[in-house]
Amino acid sequence: MPARFGRCASVRGRSRRAAAVSYSDRTDPSGVLDTLASGMRASDPAENQGLVKHGLRAVFLDRDGVLNRAIVRSGKPYPPASARDLEILPGVEGILEDLKRAGFLLLVVTNQPDVGLGIQSRETVEAIHDQLRAQLPLDDIYVCYHTDSDCCDCRKPSPGLLLRAARQYGLDLPSCYMVGDRWRDIDAGHNAGCKAILVDYNYQEQKPQKQPIAIVRSLREAGDWILRHSGGIGS
Ligand SMILES: [Mg+2]
Ligand SMILES: [Zn+2]
Repeated sequence: MPARFGRCASVRGRSRRAAAVSYSDRTDPSGVLDTLASGMRASDPAENQGLVKHGLRAVFLDRDGVLNRAIVRSGKPYPPASARDLEILPGVEGILEDLKRAGFLLLVVTNQPDVGLGIQSRETVEAIHDQLRAQLPLDDIYVCYHTDSDCCDCRKPSPGLLLRAARQYGLDLPSCYMVGDRWRDIDAGHNAGCKAILVDYNYQEQKPQKQPIAIVRSLREAGDWILRHSGGIGS
């Protein structure tokens, strides 16, 4: 039974059974959601059980504000408008290389609702991701293009992107970390069963439901914290 997270938990006052069916068999006459979700499907927690024993470790990375500079307006962060405006933050490349050497997979998990809202094109998002892949040692990038009203299972704080990655890479989620700059990232990390670290810019928005395990000022600091607390390679 997939749990419901965030606003959709209250938006959908349906029975547990009906809600579960709606994840994988939702009516989507236009097919738009299917296209946007690119094969995202219901995550069955039982499916993950078998992976928890001997899986790999990953650091899940939020994008805007963690890898690249977010555009802050009225105390809230927004994505760069184009690949030309992408500015990778200082120290990011070095700490990613350190984490990779320590045996962590580096997986980006990002909400890009401006695509669902029609404010930014999917091509622009993909151009930004091509540039990130070219400049940083990333293993994969998972994107949710939905908005809250889509009630998908992948928009953080829902853990769908992380659970999908766990299935694809055979991750041991309790040994994984989520690093993000918003409450959505921290809650998504915890909802997936990971440890979560907040890169705190003191945004004017709600706080995570559960405190992050560490609060830092940059991905460099988050990575150093992980390397200090996670033991050696493979541990
Ligand atoms: Mg962010
Ligand atoms: Zn989504």
